[in-house]
Amino acid sequence: MAKYIGPVCRLCRRETTKLFLKGPRCYSDKCSVSRREYAPGQHGTRRGRGRGSNYSFQLREKQKARRIYGILETQFRNYFFKANRMRGVTGENLLQLLERRLDNIAYRMGCALSRAQARQLVRHGHFTVNGQAINIPSYLVRPGDVVQLIPASRNIANIQLAWNLAESSRQAAWINRNNEDFSAKFERLPTVEEINIPVKEDLIVELYSR
Ligand code: SF4
Repeated sequence: MAKYIGPVCRLCRRETTKLFLKGPRCYSDKCSVSRREYAPGQHGTRRGRGRGSNYSFQLREKQKARRIYGILETQFRNYFFKANRMRGVTGENLLQLLERRLDNIAYRMGCALSRAQARQLVRHGHFTVNGQAINIPSYLVRPGDVVQLIPASRNIANIQLAWNLAESSRQAAWINRNNEDFSAKFERLPTVEEINIPVKEDLIVELYSR
């Protein structure tokens, strides 16, 4: 699947919220949202901007989710239709599907500083799932699956940095990391509260249900 290759911080500025797309820079003073708290472009500072319709609020939530997980429109829409066909609450199903992507698991387990970096690592064949090499970022990991970094990649400086940072900060309760062999078991599906991203999934459901 294709991916967005334009300016990344612009995406956060458009949502006027941090989407944490760039790793350590997002936590520093260099973050563009902190430095310029208005939307990008010629009319970014126009008064009254942001006082929108219901549709615009729904659209913004959908765009935020897309941008956080690095997915383009068609693929995101397909995730929604899949979530809609599943049992349970559609919004929760949608977020759980996004969380099951292999690039997201690689990021959550602490092998990358951002989801974009995790996506590239997956594409370049640094991971196995249940012992089998997988290089498809959208591969859906199932509860019980074990994702592992291949031995040849364990000394890469960026991966080691991310792994050590994740040890002390972000830990996903539904992923069981093993420091010995750089693997992680996807124990269970996370709840919406655990996923903890700045997105109101019910508005996305309303948008696609129009
Ligand atoms: Fe978004 Fe990170 Fe850029 Fe800040 S530094 S605008 S959080 S991608």
